[in-house]
Amino acid sequence: MAIGLDVGGTKVAAGVVDSSGTVLRRLRRSTPGTDPRAVEQTIVDLVQELAVGYSIAAVGVGAAGWMDVDGGTVLFSPHLAWRNEPLQANLEALLGRPVALTNDADAAAWAEWRFGAGQGESRLVCVTLGTGIGGAQVVDGRIERGRFGVAGEFGHQVIMPGGHRCECGNRGCWEQYASGNALGREARELAGANSPVAQELLRAVNGRVADITGILVTDLARVGDPACRELVEDVGSWLGLGLANLAAALDPGRFVIGGGLCEAGDLLIEPTRKAFARNLTGRGFRPLAEISVAALGPEAGLIGAADLARRAAA
Ligand SMILES: [Zn+2]
Repeated sequence: MAIGLDVGGTKVAAGVVDSSGTVLRRLRRSTPGTDPRAVEQTIVDLVQELAVGYSIAAVGVGAAGWMDVDGGTVLFSPHLAWRNEPLQANLEALLGRPVALTNDADAAAWAEWRFGAGQGESRLVCVTLGTGIGGAQVVDGRIERGRFGVAGEFGHQVIMPGGHRCECGNRGCWEQYASGNALGREARELAGANSPVAQELLRAVNGRVADITGILVTDLARVGDPACRELVEDVGSWLGLGLANLAAALDPGRFVIGGGLCEAGDLLIEPTRKAFARNLTGRGFRPLAEISVAALGPEAGLIGAADLARRAAA
């Protein structure tokens, strides 16, 4: 058994995971602010509570951010106060067990490759749609992390020069057009214009435009609201365009799309496939990569972190 943790800006999810990727026991805590010592302590508490009654070989920690190539130090984490934090050594000292650190998108991609929708694919690209876009690649059975360990920031490819401002500092990044946040923003804009097509959306939030989120739009699209279906379709078109760019650079056999937005299913994926095929360079003269929805859901990150830790310790 191994324990995997997914450390997010608001929650830490943890679980005991067996070698087939099944989560046997799970726990969740709120992330205790941004103090690095408090976050470490939460990780230690969760591991100790989960480990009771199990033989635990290793602990895997996945978090948003950049790990150095050796995987011992968190160089930067956007939602936590880790800056050049030697997290692996700190946690190993506190836990007395082997610890492996992973970027959260890498961990989720690994889990999909090992146990989910990416199994058997020699060149897999995973894209996770949440507040932003997470990205990762599994190539020939290993995570491709780049020369400095910071590969996979697909969400910040500029897809619309001079477009929407991104928190990374640039304008027009892909995640400003093809994420859950982008869907919410577009829907608020539509409702804010008091368009007659947005009446169902406005009714759902009692006229409070600020309460419209990507999740609400996805839900309304699923029950058939035409305006919300259009909004999801637009996001799918942007998603497909960005995937075509990635295919031009990376030529994967399969894309696996994860994250909350995938609840929209074919309402999202069909327009994505269409835009992908329409924008692919050399279309008609090359095989089309498959585009699949992720299979493991929100626990992919902790499952992958646990599996990577188990393999590193073996
Ligand atoms: Zn950006």
